[in-house]
Amino acid sequence: MTYSKYFMHLGENNRPFEDAAAVTQKTINSLFQDSTQAYSGVDPLQLKAQLEAVDLSTAEPLNDVIASVNQLIAKNSILVQHPHTIAHLHTPPLIASVVAEHFIAALNQSMDSWDQAPAATYVEQIMVDWLCDTYQMGEMSDGVFTSGGTQSNLMGLLLARDWFAGKHSNHNIQQDGLPEYGHKMRILCSDKSHFTVQKSAALMGLGERSVVTVKTNVQGQIDCDELQLTIDALKAQDLLPIAIVATAGTTDHGAIDDLQRVVNIAKNSGCWSHIDGAYGGALMLSETHKSRLRGIESADSVSVDFHKLFYQTISCGALLIKNKANFNTLLHHADYLNREGDELPNLVDKSIATTKRFDALKMFMTLKAVGAQQLGKMYDDLLLLTNQVADLIKQSSYFELCCDPLLSTVLFRLSDQGSLSDEAFNKLHQTLRLQLLTTGDAVIAETKVDGKLYLKFTLLNPCLTLNDFDSLFTKIESTATQLIIQTQEAN
Ligand SMILES: *Cc1c(COP(=O)(O)O)cnc(C)c1O
Repeated sequence: MTYSKYFMHLGENNRPFEDAAAVTQKTINSLFQDSTQAYSGVDPLQLKAQLEAVDLSTAEPLNDVIASVNQLIAKNSILVQHPHTIAHLHTPPLIASVVAEHFIAALNQSMDSWDQAPAATYVEQIMVDWLCDTYQMGEMSDGVFTSGGTQSNLMGLLLARDWFAGKHSNHNIQQDGLPEYGHKMRILCSDKSHFTVQKSAALMGLGERSVVTVKTNVQGQIDCDELQLTIDALKAQDLLPIAIVATAGTTDHGAIDDLQRVVNIAKNSGCWSHIDGAYGGALMLSETHKSRLRGIESADSVSVDFHKLFYQTISCGALLIKNKANFNTLLHHADYLNREGDELPNLVDKSIATTKRFDALKMFMTLKAVGAQQLGKMYDDLLLLTNQVADLIKQSSYFELCCDPLLSTVLFRLSDQGSLSDEAFNKLHQTLRLQLLTTGDAVIAETKVDGKLYLKFTLLNPCLTLNDFDSLFTKIESTATQLIIQTQEAN
């Protein structure tokens, strides 16, 4: 009895849950309704101090906790719904996804074994089948939900490594560890690929130095001639190219590699082809843009990230593979969980996680409540808007565009360097970004292209209009002008 108020119960009206959930919803709703800034603008040190001052040694009624979480945490969060939150691949979630989280949390199914997630296991498999079908991966394809692009890339490369050793020398890495030629293994990707390729190589015992980057063309795509030459050169040095990673949507420029060509080069070179579609993979749902992903269907593995352009709550991703037999290198039977010969499916058989969230429900509910077609149209509109924003910059005398957008990012900087050195001008952009963030006026990103610092917008929110950018540019401009005056006064 003493503890029952902390839990939900069967056969009862769960008033404590219903009340707390209602208060939470009302609180969040009021927060959104009353918020006018992307971020509160509280001083970072003050925020830290306020949070550290919370006394965790005494318990309080849940409603009080909800109120103080709202005051201290929610109100000092980045509001992803704000039109000026436009820095990263960090999306406002769909209502369908947020609502799905209520089910996911309350049901708390664990996706490792069927006996912990009967309906949920089938839902995840149905979503994986839908994805394999959407990406036209073929009869033997399969997949698994992951925590996002990082885990999907790691898994894709792990499967590649183990597949290669099996093919090359009948060596079983899962059982026997890295082969004696492990130090000769090489992974190829472009110099604009995501850093998780290097991180994966490190985690896989190959070392970051096993990743060989190939230069990109002016469009930010991997230079395929150079890729072929690099493979030939590596082989001539008695090294072993095991996998090529193509990117469908690089993080800064949104460049989509020539997937068909990369996959063909991989096939002809005896390499595994992995496509990092964390950003641009979503275009598969757009009738207008899906042709840009041609070749993805022939890849050995594909990373898809739902918490980016699919507008899902964090975290939610998937890895798809062409030949499901390759999941065998992850299979480990445990007597207590997934016995050999179990007739019902245990998703842990193809996952590097054991206990795992029922994230597939979010995509399931999204497809039912929003629909793939509607998502595809959102991307069409988003890419159109991105080009219009780039045009605004081209027309402006205050700003200068780095390059035409390829997906939904816009890279730009101030056009007039005045009397500032390159270094000071870079620094000015850094200070500008940080000031916009800490005042709560705008959450924009910065990145470097050829040593020059650029500001970056990543457009994800399909509800934005061109008007939202007028006020954003005005804000950036006035903040920059002030900073320039301060810089000049200081000198
Ligand atoms: C975001 C991103 C990743 C990493 O994915 P997470 O979901 O953040 O783990 C990998 N590759 C690309 C191209 C990305 O944009």
